[in-house]
Amino acid sequence: MDLRVSHLLPTYARADLAFERGQGAWLTATDGMRFLDFAGGVAVNCLGHAHPALVAALSEQAGRLWHISNLYRIPEAERLAERLCAASFADLVFFCNSGAEAMEGAVKIARKYHTVSGRPERYRAITFEGAFHGRTLAMLAAGGQAKHLDGFGPPVAGFDQVPFGDIDAVKRALSPETAAILVEPIQGEGGVRVAPPGFLRALRELCDAHGLLLVFDEVQTGIGRTGTFFAYERFGVAPDVMAVAKGLGGGFPVGAVLATAEAGKGMTIGAHGSTFGGNPLAMAVGNAVLDVVLAPGFLENVQEKALLFKQRLAGIKDRHPGVIGEVRGEGLLIGLAAAVPNDQLVAALRSETLLTVGAGENVVRLLPPLIVEDAEIAAAIERIDRAATRLEQAAANNATRETIFG
Ligand SMILES: *Cc1c(COP(=O)(O)O)cnc(C)c1O
Repeated sequence: MDLRVSHLLPTYARADLAFERGQGAWLTATDGMRFLDFAGGVAVNCLGHAHPALVAALSEQAGRLWHISNLYRIPEAERLAERLCAASFADLVFFCNSGAEAMEGAVKIARKYHTVSGRPERYRAITFEGAFHGRTLAMLAAGGQAKHLDGFGPPVAGFDQVPFGDIDAVKRALSPETAAILVEPIQGEGGVRVAPPGFLRALRELCDAHGLLLVFDEVQTGIGRTGTFFAYERFGVAPDVMAVAKGLGGGFPVGAVLATAEAGKGMTIGAHGSTFGGNPLAMAVGNAVLDVVLAPGFLENVQEKALLFKQRLAGIKDRHPGVIGEVRGEGLLIGLAAAVPNDQLVAALRSETLLTVGAGENVVRLLPPLIVEDAEIAAAIERIDRAATRLEQAAANNATRETIFG
């Protein structure tokens, strides 16, 4: 395989690395090299690779029924929706295939809610700087990042962006056309930025006072990633509508929009659709993910592992202040604020066979599977220590060279 002649649209700066198989937190490359996977397919492989319960659920379903469309009832989807509602604030679920599609559905629900409530002028959503909601045209506008919007024509109308955590800016952005506030409880792509204390509660109060819908994007934070089933539980604030995806299928493509009965009241027959949404294969895997993540003790174990990992990372940070400036995040959504360019740290970690993901604010994300073991945390710590040491040595050598050669 020659990557120089790849026919894939070159929209990603891919590492020249491909994998053959995975097991738990480990990946084996096509050349036989083993990597510790703390990238997790960007927070998707919540149960690691080839989890026996997921393999069994998918194989069993694959031998029975793949696809039938939403022209008929899909019992696996009804069951998954019921379980998601029982484990959250929601009464209703719409299944789709990705995070962006889930967020699109959330915005449609919010707009329709106001239309059927006699306020059709309300269609705008307040969003936050540093947000990431996906790459569809509307979600590019919601995310508001110039580097994503540039060259694609006028941004889709209806999104007003303000600084993350600034409640006064939110109040100033309110207008008679505001329908909803869209927010990630913890910004993932933006750099593992946790909503400041009291911020989500203040948004909730503002929404209640003005009849707006509060929409949480838990595409990255949901399904146990932060140590609770959904991140909003940590903040004691529930939304009206929520988007979920990444971890929900543990690697099988699936997304979902959750809503209260009130928020979803406009979504009647014909209001929305998806050919693949709620596909039996995705639903079988989603149900199997919930079997594991909602089992007694599972999330407590995630919290314990997260605590252990964070304690060890604090030690690494103290040893290498020139490489790691800060350790942040909740549960196993961890960000290292790098003191060197984050892509250099990601590359150095990859050289030490630890896979991680970059994020905004020069952060490196560590996203181990929720089933990570103590020995794997120790193995990651060793690799981070070695990578940081090598980066320090390289910097020292450069400094020496500059002193000698000017
Ligand atoms: C990844 C992500 C999305 C987009 O998901 P896709 O499946 O890539 O469309 C949206 N919101 C958040 C918070 C995400 O992390």
